[in-house]
Amino acid sequence: MSQSLNISHFSTGYCTAHERIAIRSGKWKEIPFHATCSLIEHPSLGPIVFDTGYTERFYEVTARFPNRIYAYVTPTTTQPEWSLKSQLEARGIKAEEVPYVIISHFHADHIAGLKDFPYSNILCSKAAFDYTLARKGMAAVQKGILPELLPEDLSERVEFIEDQPKTQREDALEAHIDYFGDGSLKFVLLPGHAHGQIGVLVGEESDQPELLAGDAYWLTESLEKNILPAGITGLLIDSWLDYVDTFHRLRTFRKQYPHITMTSCHCPSTFAEKIQNRHLF
Ligand SMILES: [Zn+2]
Repeated sequence: MSQSLNISHFSTGYCTAHERIAIRSGKWKEIPFHATCSLIEHPSLGPIVFDTGYTERFYEVTARFPNRIYAYVTPTTTQPEWSLKSQLEARGIKAEEVPYVIISHFHADHIAGLKDFPYSNILCSKAAFDYTLARKGMAAVQKGILPELLPEDLSERVEFIEDQPKTQREDALEAHIDYFGDGSLKFVLLPGHAHGQIGVLVGEESDQPELLAGDAYWLTESLEKNILPAGITGLLIDSWLDYVDTFHRLRTFRKQYPHITMTSCHCPSTFAEKIQNRHLF
């Protein structure tokens, strides 16, 4: 596919955490980490969403123990008009017009808006899906999962990227899955931060290719300077070994393809440079 796919990014709110959590050279000062969602306008499929960010549903489901621990660890600020659904409506896109919601991984800051898209197919990795549904109560919270945010009919609407064939690559991404078969969205596995996390390489052959990397890294600066998060962050990460492997593959990929934009969900530079709705904050 040679035509560009238009990508827009929105913040749905933010949590605050120490900068050092994201980069070990950082300070012990609190900074906001915005929860970014992306809209991919596909010429034939229509508006596709990548992650759904925060909504006020996050407050509801973290009101009680054990979920309250999640809100304690990541104090969160969101408002109804910041929700992805509201922002799409402001652009004239109704939730029922979205054929696919892609979920990079099932942490609460990526799925609190999922119930706002009751008509969409939900596209994720089978690895992430199985891992998420196998956890309840404290075992779920410890892995950043709040099952109450999952739609009750999730199993009927879910599709797995693994259902399509994998294509080997000769670069640091190693392989991709061209799920729609038109080269528009190439899914890649980015495990480590969360089990079965995926990213998507949008419009690789277009004049504005972009890799949506989810939470594979938090700060662009950490990739640029090869500085990992502080060791304590290992407690918040599913697999530190996989995290480091994914991190280095993305560092290499960045050097191999400097023309491909890379976007991480929570990087302050994503907010400063790419967020459409910055005026709301
Ligand atoms: Zn996140």
